[in-house]
Amino acid sequence: MENRQLLLRGIPKIDELLLDEQLVFFMETTPRSVVVDAAREIIDRMRKEILAGTLDEIPEKDELISEICETITGKKKKNLRTLVNATGVVLHTNLGRANLCRSAVESVLSVADSYSNLEYDVKKGARGSRHDHVEKIITKITGAEAAMVVNNNAAATMLCLSAMAEGKEVITSRGELVEIGGSFRIPDIMEQSGAHLKEVGTTNKTKPSDYRNAYDPEKTGAFMKVHTSNYRIVGFTQEVSLTEMVALGKEYNLPVIYDMGSGLMTDLSRYGVDEPTVIDALNDGADVVLFSGDKLLGGPQGGILIGKKEYIDRMKKHPLARAFRVDKMTLAAMEATFFEYLDMETAKKTIPVLQMITIPQDELTERAYALIDAIRNVTDAYHLDVVSCKDQIGGGSAPTVRLNGSAVSVSSDTIPAEKLERLMRKAETPVIVRVAHDELILSVRTIRESELETVAAALAFAAEAK
Ligand SMILES: *Cc1c(COP(=O)(O)O)cnc(C)c1O
Repeated sequence: MENRQLLLRGIPKIDELLLDEQLVFFMETTPRSVVVDAAREIIDRMRKEILAGTLDEIPEKDELISEICETITGKKKKNLRTLVNATGVVLHTNLGRANLCRSAVESVLSVADSYSNLEYDVKKGARGSRHDHVEKIITKITGAEAAMVVNNNAAATMLCLSAMAEGKEVITSRGELVEIGGSFRIPDIMEQSGAHLKEVGTTNKTKPSDYRNAYDPEKTGAFMKVHTSNYRIVGFTQEVSLTEMVALGKEYNLPVIYDMGSGLMTDLSRYGVDEPTVIDALNDGADVVLFSGDKLLGGPQGGILIGKKEYIDRMKKHPLARAFRVDKMTLAAMEATFFEYLDMETAKKTIPVLQMITIPQDELTERAYALIDAIRNVTDAYHLDVVSCKDQIGGGSAPTVRLNGSAVSVSSDTIPAEKLERLMRKAETPVIVRVAHDELILSVRTIRESELETVAAALAFAAEAK
């Protein structure tokens, strides 16, 4: 008991510790309260251990300081951080969907810490519009009359319906009343926008006559087609094509809105991706086309609205446009991403999403062997093999498409795969993997060259931590 009293009295005072030159140095770049909290944590823990009788000597001051420094570093780690996607799902919504292309990252960096001409016309020396920065390049790439960008496609849908059909009925097929994960459901968004959903047809069959029968000259405001981006209806089915809907629109002098979801710019059918392109949708005559920025387009989160100038202008002036407007970093990334599309072949190499989808099989196999080498360099705890696997586009795009991929299968004699999967998430840089038949499957489609060593390090960590 007396010994404990003695030990407790020997605990250094926080104020004294804070005079240490390493901690003083930390305080130049770290809020003082973070440093103080870290010191207090270490001291409090020591006090508890003494009282519990598990500590019978006060550590050296150097040791305490280095523990405090470690704690500070831990406290400074941001919650939102990078990880490795080894799932082979290219657009993984939980993992942040599209990785930006290099030029987009550079554009974001350059405007992020600087003033910019966001809403300033440098030539005229007068107020400008934030929409101008992306409108020119988007209309050039797509051939649309006008364009604007909002926060995401959900916002684009709401803005579009509000601006074009508030208080009116919008006729939509029952086969297209999509839910996109969580709380985005077409009927709910429609309700929120102030437009009224007029469902027609059945789940599996909708015909042009269904739209005709539902048309009411007093009430109908628009026809809307929604791409069933995350499911397919197969079997005894009939869908009214966009071309047919455009014909209906002409017949009744009503606008046709097309929510495409994915925003594919260039035909990828050669790679097994059976999604319509934005350019096809405009050629088919849709008045307004909406799509996401961070799905197959491969850009930042955003909702892109393109089409007839009279409609887009109406949306730009709508009060919701202000609520849904994007910031300078999104605009910078969006402009740079579209710029890559000036040459579609370049885009397939520079835009990560397209690059990951179009990567040749032999390159994937080569990368899988390189991953095995990287793992063997740091640990011999595992059985490793190159195996073929089926990858997915993900992000609610091309739901039935399976891409032939390459993976490294990892198993251990001592650690069950489920546990290994958990340990991989606890690594310094977490690695997200698939488990199948008591093996980890590390698909290399979504692992970058520069991440091979990170994956190897996570496996070495898991072998140690078991
Ligand atoms: C993904 C998707 C949306 C929602 O887009 P976000 O950009 O995620 O808001 C809306 N409609 C369709 C058809 C989609 O596929």
